[in-house]
Amino acid sequence: MPVLTSVSGFPRIGQNRELKKVIEGYWKGTSTLDEVRATATGLRARHWELQRKAGIDFIPSNDFSYYDQMLDTAMLLNAVPERYRRLAMDNDEDTLFAVGRGYQGSRGDVTALPMKKWFTTNYHYIVPEIDDYTQIGLTGTKPFDEFCEARDLGIITKPVLIGPYTFLKLARNSKAEELEFDRGLVDSIAQAYAHILGRFIELGAPWIQFDEPYLVLDKNPGDVELFTSLYSTILPARDNRIKILLNTYFGHIADVYDTVRLLGFDGVGLDFVEGTKENLAAVARHGVSQGTTLFAGVVNGRNIWRNDYAVSLGILDALKKVTDNVVVSTASSLLHVPFSTEGEQALGDEVLRHFAFAVEKLGELHDIASLADADDDARRHCEPLARNQSLFDGTRVARDPAVAHRIDALTADDFTRKPARAERQKAQKTALGLPALPTTTIGSFPQTAQVRAERARLRKGEIAQAEYDAFIRSQIDEVVAHQERIGLDVLVHGEFERNDMVEYFGQNLNGFLFTKNAWVQSYGTRCVKPPIVWSDVSRTHPITVAWSAYAQSRTTHLMKGMLTGPVTILNWSWPREDITHKEQTQQLALAIRDEVLDLEKAGIKVIQIDEAALREKLPLRRTDWHTRYLDWAIPAFRLVHSGVRPTTQIHTHMCYSEFNDIIRDIDAMDADVISFEASRGDLVVLDAIHDANFETEAGPGVYDIHSPRIPSEKEIEGRIYEILDRMDVDKVWINPDCGLKTRGNAETWPSLEHMVQAAAAVRASLEK
Ligand code: GLN
Ligand code: ZN
Repeated sequence: MPVLTSVSGFPRIGQNRELKKVIEGYWKGTSTLDEVRATATGLRARHWELQRKAGIDFIPSNDFSYYDQMLDTAMLLNAVPERYRRLAMDNDEDTLFAVGRGYQGSRGDVTALPMKKWFTTNYHYIVPEIDDYTQIGLTGTKPFDEFCEARDLGIITKPVLIGPYTFLKLARNSKAEELEFDRGLVDSIAQAYAHILGRFIELGAPWIQFDEPYLVLDKNPGDVELFTSLYSTILPARDNRIKILLNTYFGHIADVYDTVRLLGFDGVGLDFVEGTKENLAAVARHGVSQGTTLFAGVVNGRNIWRNDYAVSLGILDALKKVTDNVVVSTASSLLHVPFSTEGEQALGDEVLRHFAFAVEKLGELHDIASLADADDDARRHCEPLARNQSLFDGTRVARDPAVAHRIDALTADDFTRKPARAERQKAQKTALGLPALPTTTIGSFPQTAQVRAERARLRKGEIAQAEYDAFIRSQIDEVVAHQERIGLDVLVHGEFERNDMVEYFGQNLNGFLFTKNAWVQSYGTRCVKPPIVWSDVSRTHPITVAWSAYAQSRTTHLMKGMLTGPVTILNWSWPREDITHKEQTQQLALAIRDEVLDLEKAGIKVIQIDEAALREKLPLRRTDWHTRYLDWAIPAFRLVHSGVRPTTQIHTHMCYSEFNDIIRDIDAMDADVISFEASRGDLVVLDAIHDANFETEAGPGVYDIHSPRIPSEKEIEGRIYEILDRMDVDKVWINPDCGLKTRGNAETWPSLEHMVQAAAAVRASLEK
């Protein structure tokens, strides 16, 4: 029997981001809902067809989404909070968009549900809210409709759903706290999934996939019982017409593998990219039950590099010793990789042959499955295998000795800023002369169509660099004047020269490559196009200094310099796989350190080094936190700023992540000030700051910038008082929760005015 192949999920945004374009058009009123639906139908058909042509045996459906698959699951299970239902939208799509983005208009005024990063990816899911009024039950039809849609095209798919355990573990109550699992809630969720199963039996689906990535996390007391109790209700609802695949990814499930095995799933999906050692050991130790198919995730769902076939075959050979029942699979959904390398020829064949995006990964699944069955002799004579091996022969790229030398020469002093922070903070209060509750923004201002158009003209050679630079300077002039007018304390230059906070630095450093169209979804319809770390990184020239110095020359206020930190640059790029992340981050840290020192020399007194993505790659299991990540990531940040004068104020910024549990590590970055997202979701971070005696001054975002709604002055004032309840007034900064780049000017300026007025009002009342 040939070895079969399976895909966990496929990117849905479209090769040319068709879905993004049509949905954003709908929001703007330039496309209709029917157009949105038609585009979606077309994309699904195309993606299924591609997979069918590539010979994939288990093709997913319901991996499509207009906005987010957690939100879809909440809609499917009737878990949409009452305030969104009360808007009485005319159709489900509008309700869905209101939950995802907030809504302000004739039907009401609601903020969006919070967003969080999906495990260790840069994808953000909507956090479902479940409270006492939620009546869980199967209400939607999306998975069934999509299954039938594919069936009508002659393709029998494997419907994919977020499993009940992961759904419940990620959901929150209305106070953004973890759920209490009462019997009623657990039963109703399990019943709803049993109904889903029943519907798919009627529709003739041979397999259904439940994604349970939450299983790869450490377990709290009660977790295993919760998992077992959910599936003890769901599994008996199965009959011999349908098989259930329990799919896990982003790590290993060694601690519950045997429990999972004993439950008797028809298929178990394990990640053999990120949890290889532990998963292999668990399978070897406990075996695979008769009648269970092992879906071996050997093709990485979140890198862009070619699979090393020898490694994958080694894993499959090891599994073969335990079971004959193996399907070759992606390690996770391909949602997190770009669509295809088609159109990237400008990179050259020598480079391109190292890359596999979603479409190319389909080919890899096919190659690996055919090789899995072959004996050693057949493998020795296999051309695709030989070609694949030549990619890993160690000659891909030459090393830069100067970079290696600088890293070797680092000593402990390079990672320690002096004097101690408390002393610096005092010196900075005098030197900078800022009022209490200083107001600022996170860096970027709206990138208008005009800014993007000018950048496109420069790229196409329609305007000269000098003309473009003059345009950027005029944008800076305007934004500086406007910030002065509304009374902000620490100004920014607006980041108009940057297309993206990571790509921009990549473009100005040695070592990076860029694609034309390698977009991946970040949240909702938003996509990012990470640069690729190809070789050793170094800085050859100052990058931001001229812009910051120009902006500072236009005002007597403090101008904040704006850099992206090394950990974030790495986390939002496609890292190399031939050297460690630690080494790549140190290379980046040295490059950004040079920039920090040059900014200081140019007279910039406040420098923000964004580490928006610091938390993102924190290992999912606590035991790995320090050893595999924080022990090099935090020092890398310190290396960037340890060389500045005591009175130069170093800020950092983080967003969309929970950092309560690493609050001490964040303090150990030794920044003087941090701003972070806090308005869309929990204020519990304030308790963490309080309890940890957090030393860094902090600006917990006072309003949500990922929504177009304008917060009132009163609302923000309330927010500030909440913050002051938990924090020492000397340490509080007032700012929005993230950069304003994706917003329009229409909502940005009134929001900021309200923010400044709110800060002034609170200041005045404090003085009384
Ligand atoms: N300085 C960046 C900006 O304002 C920070 C963005 C971010 O945190 N994602 O755009
Ligand atoms: Zn941010």
